[in-house]
Amino acid sequence: MNPDERLDLRARFVEILSDLEAYLQSEREEGVTAVAARRDLVEALASRPATPALPSTPSPRYSGSLPSENPSVGLGAIARAIAACTRCPLHQTRTRTVPGQGNPSPELVFIGEGPGAEEDRQGLAFVGAAGQLLTKMIAAMGFSREEVFIANIVKCRPPGNRVPTPEEAAACLPFLHQQLALLKPKVIVTLGATALKYLLNLDQAAITKIRGHWLEFQGIPVMPTFHPAYLLRNPASKRDAWSDLKAVLARLGRPPPR
Ligand code: SF4
Repeated sequence: MNPDERLDLRARFVEILSDLEAYLQSEREEGVTAVAARRDLVEALASRPATPALPSTPSPRYSGSLPSENPSVGLGAIARAIAACTRCPLHQTRTRTVPGQGNPSPELVFIGEGPGAEEDRQGLAFVGAAGQLLTKMIAAMGFSREEVFIANIVKCRPPGNRVPTPEEAAACLPFLHQQLALLKPKVIVTLGATALKYLLNLDQAAITKIRGHWLEFQGIPVMPTFHPAYLLRNPASKRDAWSDLKAVLARLGRPPPR
């Protein structure tokens, strides 16, 4: 690792600690007085000068189970933090937050751009017209929606379904990172250029060129494909999308259903 990479890694670590601190603060405001966490994580937080309110010595509950031992509990806590979040201006116009939903220990995670009108109304990801097509794509792969996890880059609806700004995505991404750390999927499928661009921090993401090519997020294989909303407008691209999903099945060691 060169010095620049070390600096980047250090900056990322400090950012993660900041996000975690904000999350714990929101939990405290919700009345939560203890959470399960790894001892080394608690010590890292406790030794951080900007974290005076955290305990300097871990209580027995902190040193117990790993967060990853119970993803459902962790995902619920993240969803509560999202519900209380005001980190970016999107909180001003949302009806409901949309943290994402599905299997807490999935093989497969689908990531889209952000909630639309129906998602904002129901608080669930991909339940509008594009969501119905996604459901069919998932079923064609031999999964049910309950077997996979479905989430978005931003958890609140951008007004008019506009693309989230880089600032909004940056504010919200720590939630997705926390979710993925708990979910530990075998494969991530990104839906559309925006999800790919923000998840992998790409300057440009020409989905027509990148789709179908394996990428990686923190060691997890990532398959970029088209957003279902794009496929509704461009049904001729469904063949390419199915080719991408078959590559995912092959990666999972599953034969495509007849
Ligand atoms: Fe918070 Fe994300 Fe909603 Fe912005 S979009 S207010 S960062 S939950």
